[in-house]
Amino acid sequence: MTDLLAPLQSLKHGNWFKLICGASFQHLPAVRNLTLAYTLAGADCIDVAADPAVIVATQEALLVAQRLARDAQERGFAFTGDLPLLMVSLNDGEDPHFRKADFNTQECPSDCPRPCEKICPAQAILFNNTKDEFSGVIREKCYGCGRCLSICPYGIIYTNSYVSTPGAIAPLIMSKGIDAIEIHTQVGPLAEFQRLWQAIAPWADQLKLLAISCNDGEGLIDYLQAIYDLIVPRPQFLIWQTDGRSMSGDIGDGTTIATIKLGQKVLAANLAGYVQLAGGTNSYTVPKLQAMGLLNDFGLENNNPKIQNPKSKIAGVAYGSYARVLLSPMLDQLENKEVVNTDSQGNIRLEEKPELLWQAVALAHSLVSQIKSQ
Ligand code: SF4
Ligand code: SF4
Repeated sequence: MTDLLAPLQSLKHGNWFKLICGASFQHLPAVRNLTLAYTLAGADCIDVAADPAVIVATQEALLVAQRLARDAQERGFAFTGDLPLLMVSLNDGEDPHFRKADFNTQECPSDCPRPCEKICPAQAILFNNTKDEFSGVIREKCYGCGRCLSICPYGIIYTNSYVSTPGAIAPLIMSKGIDAIEIHTQVGPLAEFQRLWQAIAPWADQLKLLAISCNDGEGLIDYLQAIYDLIVPRPQFLIWQTDGRSMSGDIGDGTTIATIKLGQKVLAANLAGYVQLAGGTNSYTVPKLQAMGLLNDFGLENNNPKIQNPKSKIAGVAYGSYARVLLSPMLDQLENKEVVNTDSQGNIRLEEKPELLWQAVALAHSLVSQIKSQ
C-alpha cells in the first residue's frame, strides 16, 4: 500500500479527482495550462485526447508542475510533486466525445443573430468581418458537445466523427509514456470493443490503470460484465466511468443527477473495479454524493482515514466542461497578454504570469478540495 502511487491511493481511499481535458479537445495552450493548474491543485489524473501534440503539451505541463511543487506548498497547496496519471481516451465506435462541429459560413443568412457563437462553451465559433480572416469552427477548440447543432435555426451545422484506429494505438502507448487508457464504449455488440482491446492487450501490462466509460442503456450491466470478461490481461486498476449526461457539467447544478443515478446502478451491480462519475459533474456533485452517503467517510482520526469498504462507494469524480469553464477567465486573460517566452510548441506558458497561475490554481483547488477533504 505504501509504495502505491499517490493517485492510485486516492482511488483506493475514494477521493480520486480526474480532469477531463476532452477526448477531442486539441487546443494546446488550454490543455497545457489546465493541466498545470489542476496538477498543482492536486488532481490524480489528467485525461487527454490520444493526439501526440496534445500528449507532449500535457507532459510538458506536468514537468513544470513538478518544478513548482515547493512554491505550491509555500502557498498552502498540498501538492507534493507526485504527478497525476496521464490518461488518453479512445473510442470503439461512434461517440459524441469524438466528433467536431463544422459549417459553411457562406450559408449563414446575414441577419442571423448567431446563437451558435453565444452557446459554444469553448469559444470555438468565430465570425470575422473580412473575408481574409477565418470564420467558422476552430477545430482544435471544438470538443463535440453538440450544443450549436440544436440551436442553429437553419440546421446547417453538422459533425464529423472519427473512430480510434487500433493500429495506431500500440505505438502511442509504447512511445509516449502514457499511464492509463480510457475506452469509450456504448451498450451493444461486443465486436467493436473486442477489436480495440485486441490491439491494446499486448501492452496491457504497461498500463497502471484502465477505464471504461459508458452511458446508460438497456442491458448495461450485462454489457459491462461481458467487457470485464474480455479484458485479459487485466490491468491492476480498473475504473467504470459512468457517463451520465455527457459534456454538460457547466450547464447547471441538476446535470449531475444522471451520473449519480448511473453510478448507483453500477455500484449495485458489484462489478470488480472502481466506480467513478463523469458527464454532468460540477460543484454540486460532491455535496450531493455526501448527502446520499455515497462517498467514503474520509474523516481523519489519528491520521487514519476511516475507509469503509471502499468498493461499495463512489471512488472518485471526473470533471470536464465544468472544470474547463471554471478556469476560462484566467486562460482568456492569458491569451490576451503579451508573453515573450512560449513552450516548445509555441504555447503561452501560464507560469510566465505567476499572479494568473496562482489564481487559477486556487480556483482549481476549490473544486479539487471538495473530494479531497472528504
Ligand atoms: S458548441 Fe460544442 S460542438 Fe459546437 S463548436 Fe462549440 S464545442 Fe463544438
Ligand atoms: S446559428 Fe446557424 S445560421 Fe446562424 S450564424 Fe450560426 S451556423 Fe450560421
